[in-house]
Amino acid sequence: MKTDVVIIGGGPGGLTSSILLEQAGIKSVVVEKEKFPRYHIGESLTGEAGKTLRLLGLEDKMQFSEYPIKYGVRVYGKEGKNSFWVPVMARDPEGKLFPTSTWQVRRSEFDQMLLDKCLEVGTTFIQGEAIKPIGDSSEVKGVSIRQNDDTILNIESSVLIDASGQGTFLANKGVTGKKIRGKYDKQVAIFSQLKGALRDSGNEKDNTLIFYRDQFHWAWFIPLDDETVSVGVSVPTEYFLSRKESKQEFLQRELQELNPQLALRTKDCELTEETRSITAYSYEVENFTGKGYLCIGDAHRFIDPIFSFGVYFSMKEAEFAVEAIKDFLQGKTSTQSNPFADYENLCQKGMDTIQDLIDGFWNNPLAFGYLAHFRHREDIINLFAGRVYDETPSQGLMALRQLNASAVRSARENKVLVQSSKA
Ligand code: FAD
Repeated sequence: MKTDVVIIGGGPGGLTSSILLEQAGIKSVVVEKEKFPRYHIGESLTGEAGKTLRLLGLEDKMQFSEYPIKYGVRVYGKEGKNSFWVPVMARDPEGKLFPTSTWQVRRSEFDQMLLDKCLEVGTTFIQGEAIKPIGDSSEVKGVSIRQNDDTILNIESSVLIDASGQGTFLANKGVTGKKIRGKYDKQVAIFSQLKGALRDSGNEKDNTLIFYRDQFHWAWFIPLDDETVSVGVSVPTEYFLSRKESKQEFLQRELQELNPQLALRTKDCELTEETRSITAYSYEVENFTGKGYLCIGDAHRFIDPIFSFGVYFSMKEAEFAVEAIKDFLQGKTSTQSNPFADYENLCQKGMDTIQDLIDGFWNNPLAFGYLAHFRHREDIINLFAGRVYDETPSQGLMALRQLNASAVRSARENKVLVQSSKA
C-alpha cells in the first residue's frame, strides 16, 4: 500500500494532522492499535485549542455538544487557604484581552468525534499496530503494521508522522535521537472519575480546579458532565510506594487528605471508573524529525500535566506539521538534509516556554501566584491560553525565567552548604 502520509496513532495529534492533510488534498492513512471509543486521560483544553477546532470545522459540533464550558483554572494553595484564578481569555484584532471559554472533554467521545471527521474528509483508517519503520534514521519510507487479523501490511509513504503519544514509536525503534528523562519523571499520577461531587455555582461550575499540597504533590478536579468529575492526584512515586495502598485506596484517601477544599468537594463520593495510573510521564526525545518523518505531541515530549497543555500541543503541532509537509511535498524543502528542522525548532520553542511556566510554579508557587495575579497578569494569561510561539519573550516570561534561574542558584548554594557541613 502507498500513501502520501502515514500517521501512527489516532489521538488528537494524529487525527488533527489527518483532517488538515485531507483538507489540503494530501492523502493520509491513520493506524491506531486500540478499538474506539477508548478511554484516555487528558480532558481539559486550553483557550487556544478552540482555534484549532475551528480550523478543523468542528466549532459547531463543540458548541452544540454537552461538553462542559471551562472559563478558567482556579489553583488552591496549601491547606486551601489561598487561591489564584487564571481566566481563559482571547485577544481581539487590536491585541486587547477579552474573556472567552473553552471545553472540558471526555476523551473517548472527543477522539471519536475527530475520527468521524477524518472519515468524512477521506482518511483511510486502519486498525492495527505499527511494529517497524521501513527504512532507518537516514530516511524513513513508511511503516510495517500488524493488523487485527494478525496479517502484516507494509505502508509506503513520503512522510511518516509519529503521533503515538507516550508510546514514542520512532524513539523506541531508534530512528530519532535518544529519549531522555524529563524534570518531572519521578512522579506517578493516579486517577479515576466520581459522581456527586460538590460543584461551584454559575460560571464557576465547570472550571478546572487544581489543589496544591506540597512541591510535586497536587490534585485535579475536571468536570466531565453535570454529574461526573475526573479526579486525580500526582505525587512522587516514592511517596505512593511508601503508603503500601492499592491505587484505589490511595486515591480515595488522598481526596480527603490532600487539601481541605478538595475534601469538601469529594466527601462521600464513590469512584465510578477504574482507578488508573501513569508513571514516569515526563520525557523528551532528541532530534525528532528527519528525512521522511516527524513526531508530534507526546510522541516527542511531555512535561507535566498540571496546567493541561498536552492535547493543545498535539493539535497545534499537527497544524505546524501539515504546513511543513505541504512545503516538502511541493518541493520547497525536499532537497534539505532535514526538511522538518524548522518545524522541530518551532515545537521546541513552544514546549520550552511551557517548561518555564511549569518550572516557575514548582520552584516558587507563591511568587508564581503573584506574577500570575498582579505583576504580569496579561502575559501569564497568554501563556496559559497557549500563546507560546512569539518571537520575543514577554516581560512575564522573562520574570518566570528569572524565578527559575534564582531557584537553580539557591539549590546550588544549598548543595555547597550541605557538602561543606559534611566535610
Ligand atoms: P495520544 O492521545 O496518547 O494518542 C496516541 C495514540 O496512538 C493512542 O490512541 C495509542 O493507542 C496509539 N498508538 C500508540 N502506539 C501505537 C502503535 N505502535 N501503533 C498504532 N497506534 C499506536 N492534556 C490536556 O490537554 N489536558 C489535561 O487535562 C491533561 N491531563 C493529563 C493528566 C495526566 C496524568 C497525564 C499523564 C497527561 C494529561 N494530559 C492532559 C496530556 C494528554 O493526555 C496528552 O498530551 C494527549 O493525549 C497527547 O495526544 P497525542 O495525540 O499526542 O497522543
